[in-house]
Amino acid sequence: MSVSRVSAKSSATLRSKSQSKAKSKVAAAGKKRAKVPLDEMFARFAEHNPNPRCELYYTTDFQLLLSVMLSAQTTDKSVNAAVTAAYDAGLDPKGVIKLGAEGMLKLIRRIGLAPTKAKRAVAIAQQLLEKYDGKVPSQREALEALPGVGRKTANVVLAEIFGEPTLAVDTHVFRVTQRLGLHNEKTPDACEQRLMAQIDKKYLPRAHHWFILLGRYTCKAIKPLCDQCFLADVCPSAFTVSK
Ligand code: SF4
Repeated sequence: MSVSRVSAKSSATLRSKSQSKAKSKVAAAGKKRAKVPLDEMFARFAEHNPNPRCELYYTTDFQLLLSVMLSAQTTDKSVNAAVTAAYDAGLDPKGVIKLGAEGMLKLIRRIGLAPTKAKRAVAIAQQLLEKYDGKVPSQREALEALPGVGRKTANVVLAEIFGEPTLAVDTHVFRVTQRLGLHNEKTPDACEQRLMAQIDKKYLPRAHHWFILLGRYTCKAIKPLCDQCFLADVCPSAFTVSK
């Protein structure tokens, strides 16, 4: 082995030793903390992404409602791929009724639970036209009374369209906030209650997007990228989750 190869190997070993030392230090620091100091955490989220946005594509309130319903148990990316052209062409409640369940199914056939969602889309469009002149209502009860619209969908719509301080708990929010030590609940509803009791309203609804984006791109379900996470030095779970 040449001298330069030996020295490159030694520096790589040293680098890897110092990286794992740093990880252990961060992990040890994390273990000592019960949970992340919230103001510090949100200051970092804000610095990292001051204006977090919903990743679903939409051009009208109705399209957002439709896409949030369609995104259940599937990715925003696949919903966007299915609906963008139709949305750009102006898909509205009347258009959905014109397409019917069959036409909607053709449009969204690549996303999960497509047959059920296609029927729900038509039912939502019908109810909006019958009761609200085709507009999306701003009251939680009215939203949750729509077919296929539960608390999570209503929270997203209330936050995104009406700017209400809600926090929709999806799989990313549930996992990320648990790892951050903000709850140890078993259900999304209980998790939402715990989070709402702790988080200052001034951080809502941005906190919803921050948690989702962190979960989607960094704090992944399997092998979270703690070495790339801006919360690693304050997170109680940093470098402790392997799968
Ligand atoms: S990626 Fe790691 S450090 Fe960041 S929040 Fe998730 S578990 Fe904590």
